[in-house]
Amino acid sequence: MEDVEATRKITLTPNPYQVGIIDFRWTRGGKIAAEKGGGMIRWQDALEIILGAIGPLDAARIPIDKAFGLVAAEDVLAAENLPPFDNSAMDGFAVSHSDCEGASESSPVSLRVVGDLPAGSVASQDLPKGAAMRIMTGAMMPQGSDCVVPVEDTRSSGSAVEILKAPKPNGNVRAKGEDVKEGQRAVLAFDVINAAAIGLLAALGVERISAIPPAKVGIITTGGELVDISKCPGPGQIRDSNMHSLSAQVGYWGAWPIHFPRIPDSPDKVAAAIRRAADMCDVIVTTGGVSVGDYDCVKGALAEIGAEQRFWHVAQRPGGPFGFWDYEGRPVFGLPGNPVSAMVMAELYLRPALAKMMGRMADEAHWQRRVKAKLVEGFSKSGMDGKRHFIRVVAKESESGWEAKLSGPQGSAQLFPMKAANALAMVPEDVAEIPMGGEVELLLFD
Ligand code: AMP
Ligand code: MG
Repeated sequence: MEDVEATRKITLTPNPYQVGIIDFRWTRGGKIAAEKGGGMIRWQDALEIILGAIGPLDAARIPIDKAFGLVAAEDVLAAENLPPFDNSAMDGFAVSHSDCEGASESSPVSLRVVGDLPAGSVASQDLPKGAAMRIMTGAMMPQGSDCVVPVEDTRSSGSAVEILKAPKPNGNVRAKGEDVKEGQRAVLAFDVINAAAIGLLAALGVERISAIPPAKVGIITTGGELVDISKCPGPGQIRDSNMHSLSAQVGYWGAWPIHFPRIPDSPDKVAAAIRRAADMCDVIVTTGGVSVGDYDCVKGALAEIGAEQRFWHVAQRPGGPFGFWDYEGRPVFGLPGNPVSAMVMAELYLRPALAKMMGRMADEAHWQRRVKAKLVEGFSKSGMDGKRHFIRVVAKESESGWEAKLSGPQGSAQLFPMKAANALAMVPEDVAEIPMGGEVELLLFD
């Protein structure tokens, strides 16, 4: 088949920073935040600021076995044909169709068998007129043959074979280059590399491909009350679950979570951890300590090390106290500590950011699949709070469209209903109540 795809060129913005975040100047979204005088900003504006600040990581040459799910950064031209030679698609007999004309069950054509060709072998002679060679699937077709008669359509008789059905020219032959032609683009820039692409590259002898690598996401959890999950919490302590739920999310989105040691509520220690993470990671995520409590030291720590705050506090529930910083070209996501808030904020902001860094911005289905749904039971905010609520729901598609119901209590520390949820239903800022059966927009997790 001819390669008719138009050339697509990768147009990744060059990366002025060492590990790959581009252009952290204020964007339109940033101005929106500034105009609002530093008050709470809306979800869409926060997202716009984040996406405006982040660009794709630099491509790297990645071994194909590590490239699954990554975005190709170059066209890969086939240096060879696939298959590389005409070969048999069946176990049977390589013949010339002109020797078998009119063959049938009642009047078979008898050909002498002059060779045996297992896969991997090469015929030592051309096929003579009036002869056949036994051939196995994948074996190279001998010169002089043009088709294969499957074993099922033959009968052996001593050193000859009887052909019981006339073959068609080229029948059961896989032609050289029928899958991929030499010079054809086998993989295109911006393709998401799937398992078949990896197989194709392997078949072509391509061991590495230029692709956008997984973003390295440093995760720093903060809180004096937190202990490792291997420890028995003392009075007043709890286990650090955010490290694990966030790692799982980051991994699911195709990036690499990197665990940093947990930090107590000390600005100096948080500052040191962020500095260290910035040396090793493309993105830094903290949880906890980003609200207005006396011990909330993430904002102070970031100010201390000279990080530039892009916004802090989004008009939403759960997860309002959330901030975004630029620390020496590295984006820092300061997520709230409540386990559901942290996960929801990661889903809403970190996921699209990683998609953009990893070249999957165009692939919205990957990071923001939105559908309209009927909210089976109603939902009401406790008051007109001007915030966008993201309620955890179980959504399913039925014949009459999508339906969603609350996955359980909506507390921002309640992981059990979060576990059951497969989507967030959005209740806009200016809506106090969704009546029973009312329409909501969903953000699907998968
Ligand atoms: P903070 O955002 O630090 O005010 O924390 C809000 C709530 O989340 C508190 O109840 C914390 O104990 C809890 N929390 C903070 N970090 C974590 C964590 N890593 N794992 C589980 N719960 C946490
Ligand atoms: Mg705390």
